[in-house]
Amino acid sequence: MVTIKSKREIELMREACRVAALAQQEIEKAIKPGISTFELDKIAENVIRSNGGIPAEKGYPSGIKGVPDFPGSICASVNDEVIHGIPSKKVILKAGDIVSVDLVAYKNGYNGDCARTYIVGNVPETTKKLIEVTKQAFFEGIKFAKEGNRLGDISHAIGSYVEKNGYSVVREFQGHGIGAQMHEDPGIPNYGKSGRGLRLQEGMTLAIEPMVIMGKPGILELEDGWTIISEDGSLAAHYENTVLITKNGPEILTII
Ligand code: MG
Repeated sequence: MVTIKSKREIELMREACRVAALAQQEIEKAIKPGISTFELDKIAENVIRSNGGIPAEKGYPSGIKGVPDFPGSICASVNDEVIHGIPSKKVILKAGDIVSVDLVAYKNGYNGDCARTYIVGNVPETTKKLIEVTKQAFFEGIKFAKEGNRLGDISHAIGSYVEKNGYSVVREFQGHGIGAQMHEDPGIPNYGKSGRGLRLQEGMTLAIEPMVIMGKPGILELEDGWTIISEDGSLAAHYENTVLITKNGPEILTII
C-alpha cells in the first residue's frame, strides 16, 4: 500500500531524515585511508542514537533461514560491492578505494534513508565519473518527482541517463516508498518506461536510489547472504535520498 503522509507525519519524516543526513556528514569527515568500515558504522550509530534515533538497518531480518539479521548500523560496500556490505574491523579502507554507505535513521516512528559513495584518498578520474553519474542520475530522476507525473517517468530518466553514460543500472534491486516502514510501496526501479506506473501524489515519500555498475549489469550475492557484488568485478556506486512529493516538485529530505 502506498501511504500518503499527513503534515504531521511529514514533519516527523523530516526529522528522521535530518538525523540520517547528519550521520552521512560525520562519515564523510571520517573517511580516510586506514579507517575500517566497522569504525564508520560506530560513527553513524553514535550520531543517530545521540540525536534520539535508532539505526534501523541493525537487526534487519534477512528473511532467509541460516542467514543472520543484518549486524550493522550501516551498509558499507567497497569497490565492486554494490549494496548491503557488512561493516567489519577487517575491512580497512585504503587510498584508491570507494565505499558506498547506505543508512537509515528511525526516529519517532518514521524512517529516513540515504546513501552516498565516498572516495578514499585519490582515485582515477574514471572512478570519479562513475560516482558523479550515479549522483546525477538521481537528480535526473527527481526532475519528474512531482504530483501528477508517473513513477515510470522517474525510472526512465534514471536508467536512460546511466546507460547514455555507458554504465549499467542494477535491475534486481530498486528504490521504495518509505515512512513508518523502511520499505513501503511502491517499488521504484532504476529503469522503465516514461508515462507508465503509479501516478505521483503530494505527500508520498520515496527513497530513490540509483545503483550503478561501471561494467556489465549482472550481480552476485556473497556467501554471507547479504553482500551484493558486480558479477564482472567492476566498480559500483550508489546514491540515495528520501524525497517528498509536492505539487510543485520534489523536496529532498536527506540533504541538510
Ligand atoms: Mg538506503
